Amino acid sequence: YKFQCRRMDRFIHGRVIFAGDAAHQVSPFGARGANSGLEDAENLSWKLDRVLRRVSPPSLLESYHTERSAAADENIRESTRSTDFMAPNSDQEARLRKAVLSLARETEFGKRMVNAGRLSVPSVYETPLSTVDGDAWAGGPRPGTSMPDAPLLARSGDCMYLTEAFIRRGTGFMLLEFGNGAATETLEGLGVIRIGSEDDFRDAEGLAGARYDAAPGTGYLLRPDGYVAARFRHPTRTAVDAALARASGLN
Ligand SMILES: Cc1cc2nc3c(=O)[nH]c(=O)nc-3n(C[C@H](O)[C@H](O)[C@H](O)COP(=O)(O)OP(=O)(O)OC[C@H]3O[C@@H](n4cnc5c(N)ncnc54)[C@H](O)[C@@H]3O)c2cc1C
Repeated sequence: YKFQCRRMDRFIHGRVIFAGDAAHQVSPFGARGANSGLEDAENLSWKLDRVLRRVSPPSLLESYHTERSAAADENIRESTRSTDFMAPNSDQEARLRKAVLSLARETEFGKRMVNAGRLSVPSVYETPLSTVDGDAWAGGPRPGTSMPDAPLLARSGDCMYLTEAFIRRGTGFMLLEFGNGAATETLEGLGVIRIGSEDDFRDAEGLAGARYDAAPGTGYLLRPDGYVAARFRHPTRTAVDAALARASGLN
């Protein structure tokens, strides 16, 4: 048995779409195999749903290949490094491993170099579905990034995580708004999660605001797979509609 780190050149072949181990294989170090298979499914399912309902063109599916093949490359890169450390292929790799293990007994930096698998985190997508930032941001998830989580306080007084609220609101695009006390435009066909003192959720610990670099009025457009499609300091209907069209593969 030998570890394999490789992928198909293309994940889409006509009407056949490959996902999980059928599309890419990594070594077990770093827990990237099943994790990335699930992320493939998450990425593909909403696109397939929109194409089958004819609300997006079939070309939207191409972004599945673009986004997930780049994620596979990242996983293969990281996994190969771990594999080479765990099972050296050459004298040089074996010498490096021996040196690192001996340094790890005595030094902190040596410990950090022991590569028994870097745990996987969601990839950041460079994708045509994202709208480039037009406003100034000091932090927060840029378009193409998976939404960070944060604890919230629901109006009922219950604690709820943001991702839980996101999942409960359905499977469509969602606008995550940080309230400014002012009434905001209702955007048809778009779910909304509002965080603010007057709204459905309060950011009692201040973590959501900090993680999203939020100011009053800030809005994030989230894709059905929980990735950021666009973000605005003050979302307008025109700007959100344009970002929504782009993220749906309509332009
Ligand atoms: C030792 C080891 C440890 C691992 N540890 C981790 C870990 O900690 N974390 C992690 O994320 N991943 C881990 N993985 C990887 C993970 O197990 C795989 O990436 C994952 O199971 C792939 O899922 P899949 O659904 O794509 O493919 P599979 O799990 O291979 O599923 C494919 C299924 O299709 C079936 N099938 C095949 N041909 C046909 C056919 N013609 N008709 C009908 N059915 C068919 C097969 O029987 C199988 O049930 C590990 C793998 C190994 C080997």
